[in-house]
Amino acid sequence: MEIENMYQSMGISKEVYNFGKEILEGLKERFEKIDEVAEYNQMKVLNAMQECKVSDVHFAATTGYGYNDLGRDTLEEVYAKVFHTEDAIVRPQLVSGTHALAVALSSQLRPGDELLSPVGKPYDTLEEVIGIRESVGSLAEYGIKYRQVDLLEDGSFDWENIRKAINEKTKMVTIQRSKGYQTRPTLSVARIAELIKFVKEIKPDVICMVDNCYGEFVETIEPTDVGADMCVGSLIKNPGGGLAPIGGYIVGRKDCIERAAARLTSPGLGKEVGASLGVISSFYQGFFLAPTVTAGALKGAIFAANVYEKLGFAVVPNGTESRHDIIQTVTLGTPEGVIEFCKGIQAAAPVDSYVVPEPWAMPGYDSDVIMAAGAFVQGSSIELSADAPIKPPYAVYFQGGLTWNHAKFGILMSLQKLVEAKIVTL
Ligand SMILES: *Cc1c(COP(=O)(O)O)cnc(C)c1O
Repeated sequence: MEIENMYQSMGISKEVYNFGKEILEGLKERFEKIDEVAEYNQMKVLNAMQECKVSDVHFAATTGYGYNDLGRDTLEEVYAKVFHTEDAIVRPQLVSGTHALAVALSSQLRPGDELLSPVGKPYDTLEEVIGIRESVGSLAEYGIKYRQVDLLEDGSFDWENIRKAINEKTKMVTIQRSKGYQTRPTLSVARIAELIKFVKEIKPDVICMVDNCYGEFVETIEPTDVGADMCVGSLIKNPGGGLAPIGGYIVGRKDCIERAAARLTSPGLGKEVGASLGVISSFYQGFFLAPTVTAGALKGAIFAANVYEKLGFAVVPNGTESRHDIIQTVTLGTPEGVIEFCKGIQAAAPVDSYVVPEPWAMPGYDSDVIMAAGAFVQGSSIELSADAPIKPPYAVYFQGGLTWNHAKFGILMSLQKLVEAKIVTL
């Protein structure tokens, strides 16, 4: 009763609250499983930190060249232990996920080499990195060829054409775990395992890299546990735990990391330089919290799927299927629908809740886009956020929530806005 009053004072009607409550009754078992995964991953991270003897001396800020930056080097050991790899790069100098991926790709590939994506079109920003869309400095400009094999209609791998696409020039295979903002299914680690095994049987020395964005800690194993030579992600998504204010990571085989470091800093300098400034303690603390934060975001995604599925909207993934990333798509079907949804997410934010988001023309998009984000870290998508291009089928992409309680409130607020605009009747 007390909690209901609290929600009411925050603008959530009794009807909306009760609707959510009923949905939640049916999700208890599901949430228990998520908590179990988080518990396992918490131990995994804790164990790595203990084994690496993490201490407060590691939290000191370094400046200048950053030689002998113990905090940085130890954090990279912690990441390597958690991902079960030989080495890691975890740095504020990796400015985003796209940058980390660009470094990972360009460091391994040489002129004349071929890169293959056996899982269809990669994330939008990688099109210019690879040169699928012409861009200054792309891999294509360096004479690196790109091949792509799309997933089949039903989301399965096109084994035959993948086999045909691998040739003597194929140096690297890039596998995107999350569907990102596409409609294909997200790949489970088990499916990534199958794919890597298949590729390595055809050509054992191909470097298999996984774009792990949005996938970290959703399962108890990571792609590096099943044969990936490199795994790459952003610290303003899952592994930063909401605390890292910037950064990216690359984990993997020692020789791959050595090449990546030579590309990130400079040949000859590699991992030896790169001051961590004052951000390193947030990297540690965020990584420590990441399993729980990811679990909260996952619960939010599942709650949203079930709320909107019950109301008759198309949702991907659906309310019951197993999850391999934290992104939720809800197709609201009208411009008003996506706008009201995003207004709700914004109104629920701890930061800029009084701002009303509006559709806007954005560079790189062929329609107006509406974005809701009241985040502590600019652009952070492990924090509660939603965005939608204003074009058919009028789908909103929703993700994050630093705590499950906040994600829940955001979803209830989105529903509240839709009810108030008479788009939804309960
Ligand atoms: C977010 C994301 C990226 C790019 O990361 P940024 O930090 O936005 O540059 C790449 N791939 C996938 C699958 C992503 O979700």
